[in-house]
Amino acid sequence: MAGKLTEIFGIDVFNDATMVERLPKKTYIALKKTIENGEDLDPAVAEVVANAMKDWAIERGATHYTHWFQPMTGITAEKHDSFISPTVDGKVIMEFSGKELIKGEPDASSFPSGGLRATFEARGYTAWDCTSPAFLREDASGVTLCIPTAFCSYTGEALDKKTPLLRSMEALSNQAVRILKLFGHSDVTYVSCSVGPEQEYFLIDKEKYLAREDLIFTGRTLFGAMPPKGQELDDHYFGILKERVAVFMKELNEELWKLGVLAKTQHNEVAPAQHELAPIYTTANISTDHNQLTMELMKRIANHHGLTCLLHEKPFAGLNGSGKHDNWSMVTNTGKNLLYPGKTPHENVQFLLFLAAVLKAVDEHADLLRQSASTPGNDHRLGANEAPPAIISIFLGDQLADVLTQLIETGEATRSKQGGRISVGSHAIPSIRKDATDRNRTSPFAFTGNKFEFRMVGSSMSIAGPNTVLNTIVADVLCEMADELEKADNFDLAVHDLIKKTVTEHQRIVFNGNGYCDEWVEEARRRGLPNIRSMVEAVSALTTEKSIKLFGKHHVFSEAELHSRAEIEYETYSKAINIEAKTMIQMTNKKFIPAVIKYVTKLAESISTIKVACPQADISVQEDLLMRTSSLLAEAKEAAYKLTSYVEEAGSKEGKEQAFYFREVVFPAMSELRAPIDELELIVDKELWPVPTYGDILFEI
Ligand code: ADP
Ligand code: MG
Repeated sequence: MAGKLTEIFGIDVFNDATMVERLPKKTYIALKKTIENGEDLDPAVAEVVANAMKDWAIERGATHYTHWFQPMTGITAEKHDSFISPTVDGKVIMEFSGKELIKGEPDASSFPSGGLRATFEARGYTAWDCTSPAFLREDASGVTLCIPTAFCSYTGEALDKKTPLLRSMEALSNQAVRILKLFGHSDVTYVSCSVGPEQEYFLIDKEKYLAREDLIFTGRTLFGAMPPKGQELDDHYFGILKERVAVFMKELNEELWKLGVLAKTQHNEVAPAQHELAPIYTTANISTDHNQLTMELMKRIANHHGLTCLLHEKPFAGLNGSGKHDNWSMVTNTGKNLLYPGKTPHENVQFLLFLAAVLKAVDEHADLLRQSASTPGNDHRLGANEAPPAIISIFLGDQLADVLTQLIETGEATRSKQGGRISVGSHAIPSIRKDATDRNRTSPFAFTGNKFEFRMVGSSMSIAGPNTVLNTIVADVLCEMADELEKADNFDLAVHDLIKKTVTEHQRIVFNGNGYCDEWVEEARRRGLPNIRSMVEAVSALTTEKSIKLFGKHHVFSEAELHSRAEIEYETYSKAINIEAKTMIQMTNKKFIPAVIKYVTKLAESISTIKVACPQADISVQEDLLMRTSSLLAEAKEAAYKLTSYVEEAGSKEGKEQAFYFREVVFPAMSELRAPIDELELIVDKELWPVPTYGDILFEI
């Protein structure tokens, strides 16, 4: 490492320390007011900040700046402009104005807008988000100053993921502050939501990656038989890092630290070649930016080591998929975590009220949360064959579940179960305190001590969407609660009644058992909890009357923005499956069928040679193989033919109808093509198989 961790941390960020150092005090204070209290920014202040930013960036070798934004593709976008400005004597100077800092104007027509913007009205604006610090990025094109921005249309509609997130954070803050005032915390002026996303990913050898069109075009394998060894030995989880992976992680950590990303934990995950990185949590907005940077860097740095990073939710069938645990909590500007129960949660009325609010929010808007976690890739992790059901429920753990039961049954909670100590039975090892509650790995939404962990989110996704939903639904319930409590004559009594009423009405969302078992599906159905199996079925949650009212009330999404998002979801799904199906057809026709023909020809030739050389020899094995292989070949050809015609048919449809056609007709036809090819892989001579197998990819890195 170039220096000590503490020395390199944040050196590529125009962070608070840099601002203190480089901005006139008045400018710094004005900017801080905008960042912390959302006050409007004076253009004169922007001018001074822009100049300081430019000087800092140029000293560090920057030649360009870019407005870095997060369109609805879920990845980031940028357009680079150099700082140069011509002078009268034919030379150039480096310039960067406040106007250029605050506003950019990329052509919006090539980004998904879901009908929000017709192509002839291509104007889109990027606007500086001063709550997330600017940073430098170095790549082959040089050093660029990246300015986090929001992206909106000419009419002010959000065309990105960041704007709604910022709006939802404001909504949550407003409502939480109202509640806290009632509890006497008049010093609290805002509440931010803190997020720590745990990022799972696969690392594979780049040459093997390049030998498979499915990985290149779709990010996942569309064919592949299970190798003799999968993840059944549990020997990868927390195992020792392979040398190449360790070197990759070292570089990744250093680069992340330079960007001020609090990369903290790294380990091997359950599946072979699968890993995880978790940062220390921070404000949702910054956390979202950092997670995007983390994903980008993972891909870039993998390349430096002859590796490829796969962020797809299910790169390999039959093995663990990749998710992103979105750890979420609410923290006041005075530093108090509103989800911290304390040692005796039953006495912590304020905590119980916020807890009840989350229960109600998640119960009432489970459909929206489910939707916020959908991508085509995540369909393989949620509610699919190899996956747990896509039912949202909340795990609270023994201690809190017990407090709630007391409240519901007697109207009074008088005790909290305590953890006690564990002794492992050896005097050499000191006894350790245990938590009041064990973990539950199967819950999609688990309370883990002082935060909720939303585990449905997919590994490739931006976390902006899920957090926008979480913030808004909780804000909405807090708003309702504040309306009621502000009117109450006796606050203590009213809070008590409200908590009891809320947890009683929404206890069905609490489930502390095994979320992966079949009985739960039945039980959830009895409780009336939605079980939304796929992305396309989830989309309609966005545009229900309930959803339009909710997001409209808190100014997070307008009705038009919601409709546009629904349209984009359908489009995204259709495009993804279309590419997958076409890739399968191409691989089948150009790779697998020719390879299998070679194999059967070799077999047939060997049969005739043996027949001539030794007519009495037993050639039943060769003949059986020839028969089996030929019939699988015919099956594959037929399945490819069918899939081709379905894909053509899909092309004549659009929108929701098209997405459902892809889901219900094209997607199953893909499995029908995969099956004979995977069987052939197990029969055909390894030398002739045209692509690296699961075994080659997963164990040889
Ligand atoms: P676990 O082992 O329960 O998954 P960790 O302590 O490893 O928990 O944390 C997982 C992630 O949750 C990390 O990114 C961590 O920073 C984040 N996290 C911890 N506390 C909070 C909190 N109060 N709010 C949001 N995220 C948190
Ligand atoms: Mg976790």
